[in-house]
Amino acid sequence: MDRVRMTKPARLVRNWTLAVGVGLATLTVVVGGSGVASAQESATAQNVILFIGDGLGTAQRNSIQLATVGPYERLVMDSLPYEGMVGTNSVDPETFVTDSAASATAMASGVKTYNGAVGIDADDNVVPTVLEQAKAAGKSTGVVTTSQVTDASAAAFGSHVEDRDEQTEIARQYIEESQPDVILGGGEDYWYPEGEPGAFPDNPPEDEEEQSQSDQGNLVAQAQQTGYEYVTDAAGLQAATGPRILGLFANQEMFQQNPEGEGDIYEPVVSLPRMTQKALDTLSGNEAGFFLVVEEEAIDEMGSANNSELTIKAGQQMDESVAIAKDYADANGDTLVITVGDHEVGGLTVEETDSEEEPDESGGNEGDETADVSTEDGPFDAANSDYQFVMDWTTTGHTGSDVPLTATGPGAELLTGNYENTYIYEVMADSLGVTGMSAASGATGEMPETGGMAPQDVFGDASIQLVTVGGILLGLGGLLAYVMRLRRTD
Ligand SMILES: [Zn+2]
Repeated sequence: MDRVRMTKPARLVRNWTLAVGVGLATLTVVVGGSGVASAQESATAQNVILFIGDGLGTAQRNSIQLATVGPYERLVMDSLPYEGMVGTNSVDPETFVTDSAASATAMASGVKTYNGAVGIDADDNVVPTVLEQAKAAGKSTGVVTTSQVTDASAAAFGSHVEDRDEQTEIARQYIEESQPDVILGGGEDYWYPEGEPGAFPDNPPEDEEEQSQSDQGNLVAQAQQTGYEYVTDAAGLQAATGPRILGLFANQEMFQQNPEGEGDIYEPVVSLPRMTQKALDTLSGNEAGFFLVVEEEAIDEMGSANNSELTIKAGQQMDESVAIAKDYADANGDTLVITVGDHEVGGLTVEETDSEEEPDESGGNEGDETADVSTEDGPFDAANSDYQFVMDWTTTGHTGSDVPLTATGPGAELLTGNYENTYIYEVMADSLGVTGMSAASGATGEMPETGGMAPQDVFGDASIQLVTVGGILLGLGGLLAYVMRLRRTD
């Protein structure tokens, strides 16, 4: 550039046009949505089905694969054509290793937040979720989980609280504000006040701490008044006609996470595949499309207990559910299906069976100080082969490892590569065409100290596009003027 001699006015013009060009190009990028502009050009997805395997890391997928189809075949969830790797770190003051709440908020709303936060950003601002935005666009919505329906992963799609433990408040927000059309899972205890056991008895033998604890009255009755059909078992779910269904199938989680051999149970009253199928049958009645999030929680909770057998069992149920969604997507062609973990758990590795030279590395008996350091489970038979494998855990906590994502359908090609979990929101919202949309109801003004709207709400969708187009045009004009200037002085 120094070679180009210019008269003073020419230099002024050059600097001015360059500044305008760069400035508006920057504005375009900032306002236009940080690098996923290409999502807007891809095919539109009428529907999105997001599967969250809670705690589903690479080795979890590999273990489930080995036990189910063996070393040389793929699970359904791993056979989807597009794959990415997802960073899960949260912005908690104490740690970067995320919990389920912060990770689910990142995927639901596209913001990093602190652990325990549900549907709010790191400054406690309410952020609209893709479920709420889909609803505002006229689509049907649903949450399905083997955990409490009000537990963090599902909650981040339909509620806004500072503490994930506020599960009754989350239930209230579901039925009064975000109103997912289909709500299926456990957690009945948060919907009934103390003394009203509901369909599942208080203080059952398998977990005596389970009891009704709503401090906002009978929320099941309130849900029924607002049009929800309430069901509590497989037959009831089968018979339900919708369009709004609330199914609560356990006091808390739909399984029991107890030490291995001491009451660890994974036998949901209604299986995850059946819940998934019913949700699809119900939501697909809306011609405007739907958004559905399906979570398998036991992968995380069994992983936290280093319980390999039930990690596999839960993972197989998730894979069967994905198969149902994939069949739906294959038949309809307008559905984006995503499978992803919210974080890894347990620091799991898959190993061959121990040889004489490499003895059992498991940490020892309960009470031993190394008991939590490394536990091994197995050997397990690898399907369709003569091989066996061992699952080796290094922690009972979450880890900071990236997690794999697989996807199929419109927009799935945008999910290749390596990115943060917030990007999943951007792709889902852009593919559904709901980016920038405000929530239909709720999602505003619930948090007293927030001061209001999320950044996405400040501009409407149309104004973002206007500013973007204007920015591009002015930027191009500036660039053109600059080029012409250069050619003249050359
Ligand atoms: Zn989790």
